[in-house]
Amino acid sequence: GSFIHSYGTKVFLRPRLDMVQDAVAQSRFNEKKWVWVEDIHLGYVAAHILKEERDLVQVELENGSTAFTSPDKIYPMNPPKFDKVDDMADLTFLNEPSVIYNLAMRYKSNMIYTYSGLFLVAINPYRHLPIYEEDCLQAYKGRRRGEMAPHIYAVADQAYHDMVRDKENQSILITGESGAGKTENTKIVIRYLTTVASEHTKNDATNHNADRLGQQILRANPILEAFGNAQTIRNNNSSRFGKFIRIEFNQRAQICGANIEWYLLEKSRVHQQSPKERSYHVFYQLLSGDKETKEKLLLGSSKPSDYGFTKGSNHVIESVDDAEEYRKLLDSLNIMGLSSKEQMDLFLIVAAVLHLGNISVTKDYRGDRADIRDFAAVERVCHLLGIPAQDFKNSLLSPRIKAGRDWVNQSKSPSQVMSSLDALAKALYERNFAALVERINKAIDAQKSIDKIGFIGVLDIAGFEIFEVNSFEQLCINYTNEKLQQFFNHSMFELEQEEYQKEKIEWSYIDFGLDLQPTIDLIEKTNAKECVAPRGTDSRFLEKLDKVWDSGDPEQKYKSTRFKDGFVVKHYAGDVEYCTTGWIDKNKDPLNEDITRLLARSTNRYVASLFEDYLEDNDESSIGNLYANRGSGRVRSTLTLLKLRKGGGSFRTVGQRHKQQLLSLMNTLYMTHPHFVRCIVPNHRKRSGEIQTKLVLDQLRCNGVLEGIRICRTGYPNRLSFADFRKRYEILCPNLLKPNCFIDGQSACQSLLDDMALDHEKYRIGATKVFFKATVLAELEENRDKK
Ligand code: ATP
Ligand code: MG
Repeated sequence: GSFIHSYGTKVFLRPRLDMVQDAVAQSRFNEKKWVWVEDIHLGYVAAHILKEERDLVQVELENGSTAFTSPDKIYPMNPPKFDKVDDMADLTFLNEPSVIYNLAMRYKSNMIYTYSGLFLVAINPYRHLPIYEEDCLQAYKGRRRGEMAPHIYAVADQAYHDMVRDKENQSILITGESGAGKTENTKIVIRYLTTVASEHTKNDATNHNADRLGQQILRANPILEAFGNAQTIRNNNSSRFGKFIRIEFNQRAQICGANIEWYLLEKSRVHQQSPKERSYHVFYQLLSGDKETKEKLLLGSSKPSDYGFTKGSNHVIESVDDAEEYRKLLDSLNIMGLSSKEQMDLFLIVAAVLHLGNISVTKDYRGDRADIRDFAAVERVCHLLGIPAQDFKNSLLSPRIKAGRDWVNQSKSPSQVMSSLDALAKALYERNFAALVERINKAIDAQKSIDKIGFIGVLDIAGFEIFEVNSFEQLCINYTNEKLQQFFNHSMFELEQEEYQKEKIEWSYIDFGLDLQPTIDLIEKTNAKECVAPRGTDSRFLEKLDKVWDSGDPEQKYKSTRFKDGFVVKHYAGDVEYCTTGWIDKNKDPLNEDITRLLARSTNRYVASLFEDYLEDNDESSIGNLYANRGSGRVRSTLTLLKLRKGGGSFRTVGQRHKQQLLSLMNTLYMTHPHFVRCIVPNHRKRSGEIQTKLVLDQLRCNGVLEGIRICRTGYPNRLSFADFRKRYEILCPNLLKPNCFIDGQSACQSLLDDMALDHEKYRIGATKVFFKATVLAELEENRDKK
């Protein structure tokens, strides 16, 4: 279209048309039979066939050398007219090497976005590209897919228009490994939506409010990033939690509110990081903040190297100024509408966590029990948290526990005290994070709006992970991805089925979502109640696992095996070994309840509210007060979900809580029209322009793009309207159809296909289109080229 002529940026988005149709390239290609050959180091290399026998093929590689290979190690190459196609579903030869070749060619020309059927694939450019500017954004407004080059704007625009037109909720699911660009693309989607929706606000009395809301929604992100992102080896701004941001729209297609859900914050980062990484940004930002605040929080003029939880690791990020980021954070908090008291409360927890890490635990004079040397550190923590220091110390060293019907004091060893300090730091940090998200939700809530028509939800969540050692965290994230892949497969199935039904063709298309169910069932069983009994140990957990495995039906058994201290699960993305050491603790996350009861009675209202679930029964009346103080019940929901209710309560473990949250996410997603975005990291060196084939292939396997292609090939992936089919392939049957004699499209196609003597299994004729199995069109193309 016109975009090509009117925008200087198009070179980043579209291949040159003359290149695509380059006749010279085509004729050179026709001279030989080109293929891709598997190569252990490079993935795939280009070659042409010299000699072909039944089980041996001789090929000449690009570098001039010849080699022998087996026929199943070579894949046909697409002719050059397919170079840099926008949608890989259009490739006649839909195989792994063609997919990777297309992505790499495009990436090297700065075309980072490519469609693959239902997916938008996005490869991190690791540099600023001029494709996000205002004119570019405007150019995508209201355009149809195919009219414009692939872009995240196109996905956002599609979602917006579908939502307004169909009054149907939409979701945009963005996954990928760390550093792939999920969060950047999420931000671009949100900016697109706030920009496009605010244009409907012009000349509107509600203008001011909507603008403010838009601003607040945009500011939610820097706040969340300060508290939930950290510098890691993979990514200087790595999100250590997943999120689902819902943006609500009203009848006039304006934004009327938003809501954020978060998943699985990496709590362990609060007390330990690997040497080249950092803790959460906010620690460093606060420590380079203003003097007055620091004084109030008893931080004086200290630095990250002064605190036990931060001193052992990295402190600065290249080209990031923490003081500047701190000012931006305060700015965002102000725009969000947090009072200075509320802001102080948030930072107070951050400071208290730092001070907690400075409590040094030693052995007492008897040598086995713990003691605390420096009472001043304890006093600092207790002053900030509003609890009595002596009580805190006693609860820490010898907590009161229930033995039968009596309460007794139990002395702790130094290592036990250390781990309860770590656990407390993690709990404080996570509960503060939960309360922060609730507070943001309160600011941007759409409750007041009476004319909501629907929402667009954007999911930014870590993709499938297979590490050297996989633990509980990986099981949680892989379980999530297994569910999301099931959702994708199911969506694909539904759409295809709909199309086949509409076209009234016979089909035997399979719901591949069902394939994943045994794996999902198995993980859910693993997580089941009996595995997390209160007095469980890792070894008892494994015994329980054995029972689950033994009683499992054969299908599930096939999905997994056990080994000494762990098990293997067959995921759609591959087999993953999980090591179960430390799982019971990770899952239960035990807190010293003596201390949490102290915190629940803190003189600081905010601190008390974070631990209100630990109030004892006889404190019930004060729960009533807290409810009254903290406003609507809805605002409390995420924090409640986080709190591990005791006794008959609902969520006793991390696993159960995650399962519950995921269930609710999936229920929401199944009520939406989904759009899928897959982010890819091109190399692990944060370099622009460099693309590593094997790394990208692994990701395409894990993120379901290759799976999507496989499923696509089981149906009738290529389809053409009757008119297009006749126009293009009539040449294969000259003189069959009389030029001046009327014949309807369907009959014309039928007689052409009959004349070509194509096996009926290879195609279906629908009501308006002809459908083809994979590679059939390639054969027709080849015949056409010969003419
Ligand atoms: P994590 O899982 O660790 O949170 P992520 O997938 O969210 O990773 P991002 O934080 O979005 O990754 O991206 C990592 C970095 O890559 C960004 O900070 C930015 O420097 C760069 N980047 C990503 N996408 C783009 C883009 N479209 N344009 C320019 N730079 C980008
Ligand atoms: Mg991220």
